[in-house]
Amino acid sequence: MLKKFIAASFILSLFSTAIFAHRKHENENPTQDITVKTIKITDHVYMLQGRGGNVGASVGADGILIVDDDYAQVSAKLAEALKTFGSEKPRIIFNTHWHGDHSEGNKFFGKDSLILAHTNVRKRLSVESIVLGNKTEPYPKFALPVLTYDQSMSVHFNDEEIRAVHYPNGHTDGDSVIFLPKLTSCIWAMTFSPVDFPSLIWTTAAACKE
Ligand SMILES: [Zn+2]
Repeated sequence: MLKKFIAASFILSLFSTAIFAHRKHENENPTQDITVKTIKITDHVYMLQGRGGNVGASVGADGILIVDDDYAQVSAKLAEALKTFGSEKPRIIFNTHWHGDHSEGNKFFGKDSLILAHTNVRKRLSVESIVLGNKTEPYPKFALPVLTYDQSMSVHFNDEEIRAVHYPNGHTDGDSVIFLPKLTSCIWAMTFSPVDFPSLIWTTAAACKE
């Protein structure tokens, strides 16, 4: 019961953070000090909280895989946080969708990391776009997803099958959910409309064992 309560509280607090991620971008001064907070989920899974969408990290013998990479101004601090896991350069990055709070770090990490995402994420990042009145220039080629999928993709990494699944009725046309099968019944990342689902849900190891 206690475990369930802890898990529920954790999810709710993250729920609030994620829902307002886009609004935060509008209101915050981009020059203010940026910190990245690391939260341990299991021995090999971490959550990193910067300014945009929460970043997930699988850490192990194969290196580091991250889910989303936050705003561009967070990248240097995110790299610092990743360095504590052994390398400031993740081998693999999943973009759960194309919005900047989940993908601008591609411009920092893209020359060293392999970026994976739904086909429409690459399409959207390849062209100019306008979100909440803010114009986004096309990303440079090295910051675009290299491997794309229409429905799902598995990455066999750190002794588990990390699986990205596209759900068509998300808040963009390229939303994916990332699953870690070892964490039974856990959903790693969700990027649906906040009306239907939180923008990014994390569950604790306690919840995963229920
Ligand atoms: Zn978004």
